[in-house]
Amino acid sequence: MPDRDHPGLSATDLIHHPYVAPAGFEAVMPGVHKGSTVLFRDVADLHSRQWKDKSGYTYGLHGTPTSFTLEERLATLEGGRQCLLTPSGLSAISLVDLAMLQAGDEVLLPDNAYGPGKDFAQVELARWGVRTGFYDSQDARTLEALITPATRLVWLEAAGSVTLEFPDLTGLLRVCRQHPQVCVALDNTWGAGLAFNPFTLDPGEGLRSGVDVSIHALTKYPSGGADVLMGSVTTVDEALHLRLKLSHMRLGLGVGMDDVAAVLRGLPSMPLRYAAQDRSAREIAQWALRQPQVVRVLHPAMPGSPGHEHWSALCTRAAGLLSLQFHPRYSVEQVHAFVDALRLFGIGYSWGGPMSLAVPYDLRTMRRHPAPAGALVRLCIGLEETADLIGDLEQALRTCLPLASV
Ligand SMILES: *Cc1c(COP(=O)(O)O)cnc(C)c1O
Repeated sequence: MPDRDHPGLSATDLIHHPYVAPAGFEAVMPGVHKGSTVLFRDVADLHSRQWKDKSGYTYGLHGTPTSFTLEERLATLEGGRQCLLTPSGLSAISLVDLAMLQAGDEVLLPDNAYGPGKDFAQVELARWGVRTGFYDSQDARTLEALITPATRLVWLEAAGSVTLEFPDLTGLLRVCRQHPQVCVALDNTWGAGLAFNPFTLDPGEGLRSGVDVSIHALTKYPSGGADVLMGSVTTVDEALHLRLKLSHMRLGLGVGMDDVAAVLRGLPSMPLRYAAQDRSAREIAQWALRQPQVVRVLHPAMPGSPGHEHWSALCTRAAGLLSLQFHPRYSVEQVHAFVDALRLFGIGYSWGGPMSLAVPYDLRTMRRHPAPAGALVRLCIGLEETADLIGDLEQALRTCLPLASV
């Protein structure tokens, strides 16, 4: 029906238009398909389509061609078969917890796990009657000692958060595989699917290889732009995937297709960015080892860094992260002044983006095991010139942590 103010055009015509763009548009990047509603040809079509096996489209929350494409690529990247997208890396962690655990169960995490994931377990899961235990990622015996028949989920993380200890992943997996009721989930954000393959880790002794679930904060390397929050949950087992998928659906975890497109855009350059940030971080770690103000450089590729031998046995690549532990003679205030004096490093969370970042941490508030004295600064290395970053660190060291005061 024509609109009185716009003869010839009606509101209905704006919605029901006959034009269909010609098929056959080929481009390097896939299209960005958005939709909450998915239209069906008729009622029979509505009733016939399945969302669980991804053979068709039913509702935006169940995915569009754009999100299916990203899921497929991430599964391939991590050596898995199925993948689910979540609104953040943290929601990927909480989805696995909620899908795998119920009242009376126990979940075990490394003491150096990503902090908000520990917090989710200790506070939210506790309210639902799930107990949480923490093991020392560098000592498989502490994991073995904690596993009971109620243990249903064990988290692995390599390298550890902030302190970057690299665990003996195959040794920890071997302990878990002695207990068939245990589901093994890995936070693979640091490895990004590039440093090692979580689904081929071999625990030996004829035990089943690979972790069961790999989660990934796409916010970090896959996006690479410091402008997207997203997570993924990758599996190889169809039944396990379905269990996660049903919880994912019931929790209503959707992602925006513009964000999915941004991650798809970041993926092709990820191996190059990962390699460049790895190279730069190692150069900065080597420089830091020569600074008298620094008592320890935490980076798994540096000999003397905790778990270096486990990293060497499994990987040749590393993420562009390192932490500097300063001499205990420097006060926390002096170390904070050092961070404030940095000009190129931004002060902020996350990593894997273009800009280098620095965050000071107080380990005493983060760990059960007694932490070493001295303040610690975590650096994430971006894509700036390495020499400029070293120059920046040098000027801040010189002005805020002078050698004369040692
Ligand atoms: C950042 C991060 C997460 C959480 O990702 P968000 O998208 O920020 O929620 C989880 N695990 C690790 C290891 C991370 O670095």
